[in-house]
Amino acid sequence: MGIVDKFGIQAKAYWFFWNGVDWLFPPECIGCGKEGAIICPECLHGMMRAELNSCIYCGVKLPKRGVCTRCGHIPHAIHELRYVAAYQGVMRTAIQRLKYERDLGVGLELAKMLAQIVQVTDWQIDLIMPVPLSEKRQAQRGYNQAALLAYPLSLQLHLPENTKGLVRVHETRSQVNLNFQERQENVQGAFCADPSIVKDKTILLVDDVFTTGATINAAAAALRESGSKRVYALTAAKALGRQVTIENAPAFDV
Ligand SMILES: [Zn+2]
Ligand SMILES: [Zn+2]
Repeated sequence: MGIVDKFGIQAKAYWFFWNGVDWLFPPECIGCGKEGAIICPECLHGMMRAELNSCIYCGVKLPKRGVCTRCGHIPHAIHELRYVAAYQGVMRTAIQRLKYERDLGVGLELAKMLAQIVQVTDWQIDLIMPVPLSEKRQAQRGYNQAALLAYPLSLQLHLPENTKGLVRVHETRSQVNLNFQERQENVQGAFCADPSIVKDKTILLVDDVFTTGATINAAAAALRESGSKRVYALTAAKALGRQVTIENAPAFDV
């Protein structure tokens, strides 16, 4: 009851603030520039949305929701991963605004989409955690873009958020030019979780983008090692990596 009340008041203050901002400064669509919404209905409609009938780990389209042959051969620390849309078009613009310009209004719009996804699952979440940056990178950037999604999402879902129980203990080199195998090795042991916070909990890990899922699985592995019961993963976007391109992307409604 206490927790619900606290979240109710925080959430109301947050919406009140952002509605006030929208009233004072009507937003322009980040996709087409039209006035009225941060992402207008047309641009929203144009996103390459994730398919429901797809692999629970990588999003590849399947006849029904399950595990694809490739993921069937790889151990996963997460129980299920979901995402909103492909990392292209207006979704790419949104994430870049969040990541490089700390655009909190965009974070709120994306958090609403993330909340809609969680609301149709049977996930019984205890704690929402953003995938952390290393201390050094966070100090350089001044914020963690994943936390700019996790916080408004926690208010939407009335669930607690925690940014202390999972830390990135060593710097990993940029994943951009690495293949799947190299990505997994690059992030192995990069995270450490606090059992006093995560033990016996079902955790929802939140990040902006995933490519192969190596980072999110490394974070989930640290949580599982510290006694987390289940770990679900939710990202705003899936990068169209080497294995998945627009031409062969079975995961998306093109
Ligand atoms: Zn638009
Ligand atoms: Zn898969």
